[in-house]
Amino acid sequence: LLSNAAADSATHAALNGSAGKSLLDGAAHSTLSDANRRLEKALKYVSINEDVAERLRYPKSSLVVSIPVRMDDGSLRIFQGYRVRYDDSRGPTKGGVRYHPGVTLDEVQSLAFWMTFKCAVLNLPFGGAKGGITLNPKELSKFELERLTRGYVDAIADFIGPDIDIPAPDVYTNPMVMGWMMDQYSIIQRKITPAVVTGKPITMGGSQGRESATAMGAFFVMQTVLPRLGKSPENTTVAVQGFGNAGSIIAELLYKAGYKVVAVSDSQGGVYASQGLDIPSVRQIKESSRRLKAVYCEGSVCNDQEHSTITNEQLLELDVDVLVPAALENQITAENAGRIQARYIFEVANGPVTSDADAILENRGIQVFPDILVNAGGVTVSYFEWVQNRNGFYWSADKVNHRLEFAMKQETEHIWAIAQEQDIDLRTAAYVHALNRLDDAIRAKGTRD
Ligand code: GLU
Repeated sequence: LLSNAAADSATHAALNGSAGKSLLDGAAHSTLSDANRRLEKALKYVSINEDVAERLRYPKSSLVVSIPVRMDDGSLRIFQGYRVRYDDSRGPTKGGVRYHPGVTLDEVQSLAFWMTFKCAVLNLPFGGAKGGITLNPKELSKFELERLTRGYVDAIADFIGPDIDIPAPDVYTNPMVMGWMMDQYSIIQRKITPAVVTGKPITMGGSQGRESATAMGAFFVMQTVLPRLGKSPENTTVAVQGFGNAGSIIAELLYKAGYKVVAVSDSQGGVYASQGLDIPSVRQIKESSRRLKAVYCEGSVCNDQEHSTITNEQLLELDVDVLVPAALENQITAENAGRIQARYIFEVANGPVTSDADAILENRGIQVFPDILVNAGGVTVSYFEWVQNRNGFYWSADKVNHRLEFAMKQETEHIWAIAQEQDIDLRTAAYVHALNRLDDAIRAKGTRD
């Protein structure tokens, strides 16, 4: 808690700009400062109004709340929660809520920054936001988690709404948590308000295809670019870091498409099998036992697959064609970037590669496909869910997936073309693409401020 508080107060100091400095001069290890470096780099390749650039350097508003929760044993615990609305010039702000021990204001602001650019990359009528609560959800009972979630909504109810800011799932939150959020908001408003939250259970107004959307979106990006890089599924090995909603589903999609997924990991560590892992079985065992094991199942009979146990650090440095970080930010840094052997990195997590690492990877000829494109499938289907809630008319899974495929492939093509035309890396091209759209929206509003 102390170190979080220290990091947060450093960010506050940077934000308040007491010395008239920009965010870049703020906290030494701020993730938001690092995220802003991408903005500064991209600004060199667009001709946008300097006022617009200045607006985008700062989060619009940040809410910090204390949430009292009555624990099952009768004691009272106070949890720290956040909701940040980074920029709303393109529409109501949008972004997930993370439940994780490492959540800080700095992290939530960075995630809200990325959401702003991600929504612009996909041309969704949304700005960017993010929320989080600092806790280890594995230590709470289901009832405690429900009380915490309802308490969080009580605390941020005036800050969110279907036309203001729309939360969604992120690391360690799921449809069940979104259902509690939507129910609590509806109780406060005294009317059923499904469009206030996305990623809900289907029975509460959730969309078909939302759970698999982040992975599906990433898969569509890969399918668009890998063939033109000369990689067909049979001759492509993949390592996936993270086995949550995004990581486990992308591993399975790739496996089913014929790619050889040789390594996967969760927060405890990973497994490696040079012949390729049997991903559906690995998922099945992980779901039932909560443990990651290299297994091969035939019907209900499962056997151990020949494998080695590896750490998360080792997984990142494996000699594979494609590396898919699908866990947390700041995984590939200046420290390990020199040892990465993969040829292509697809950022399914938000912010897994730091800006220092970007330069090292680029020099080594490793191509990075950026988060604000690769993992944008989740928020794209969240948009579809919001549209369905507002219309009261629900789509089939086929319709959702087709629209997602169209959107992901179209924006991948745009970004690919910008990178070629301007001879820049794909991340910078994605920021350029988003900046042009943000610039249009911000300028259209006029110059009152
Ligand atoms: N948490 C997801 C993300 O980082 C989804 C956000 C949303 O659906 O609003 O993109």
